[in-house]
Amino acid sequence: MDAMEVVLNTNQYIRKVVGISNAFGPPDSVFRQMLKYNSWILGKPFYSACEVYKLTKSTAFDAAWTDLLDSNIEDTLKTKKHPELLRLLNAIELPTSKETDAGEKRVLLILKKLLNKHCSEFERYSNKTFELKFPDKINLVVELSRTFGTFGGTMPTKNMLISIEVHQNDPNPISVVFHEMLHALFKFNGIKFKTNYIEEAFLDYFTLDGLLEKDLGFIDSFDAEKKHEFNVIHRRYAKAESDALLPLFSKYVIAGAQGSIWKAMKTAGMTDSFLLK
Ligand SMILES: [Zn+2]
Repeated sequence: MDAMEVVLNTNQYIRKVVGISNAFGPPDSVFRQMLKYNSWILGKPFYSACEVYKLTKSTAFDAAWTDLLDSNIEDTLKTKKHPELLRLLNAIELPTSKETDAGEKRVLLILKKLLNKHCSEFERYSNKTFELKFPDKINLVVELSRTFGTFGGTMPTKNMLISIEVHQNDPNPISVVFHEMLHALFKFNGIKFKTNYIEEAFLDYFTLDGLLEKDLGFIDSFDAEKKHEFNVIHRRYAKAESDALLPLFSKYVIAGAQGSIWKAMKTAGMTDSFLLK
């Protein structure tokens, strides 16, 4: 299996686009971004953010995403390739960390080290459990967070693009990266859940502190029942979905939690309830 390359991206423009996109994401993400960028809530900045978001959701924007991921992003925007986007992004002030911050340098080093150490194990597990194929490259937009814990997001784009904000005191942010990678890899492999909430509840059983971490040796034991209780408290919006998935994961764990989860789902007669054809 060829290893997939994870490219760390810290560009201010792409961070802005990612920050805006996350503000229109799942309920917990919206809340976090609104608190972080509270100046958006009223007036012009919010309007500009909506305009950027609309742009990023349009099919015409697929090409722009490729340009934004280019290492010469400033030049690309300045050559008036995307004048509207450049105007909007320059109009929005966002409190992002700086690439020169000591805290941010530390976070980037930690991430690089953890990716080197655990990425091939992650690929082995994902291949065995989700029967995944891997792209050559995943782009990971990184930012330092001083206010909230570590969290991530997936972008509505054809490029393999995920983001993470790492809390300055988090010694092991890798699980959040793996969680977002799995969202992106499901999309890449054409695996579609009936709703985003089902996908969220499903992934929560694997990571954070789930079956993936158990397999990688990050945690000593995994109990589906206890994980469900944790999900209900921390992911209230996907409570019903976590409830519905619990019997599947209880059976999977009793059977040894090895092998394809899709086969386990089929054996349990649950495929039609959770996946789109
Ligand atoms: Zn998620």
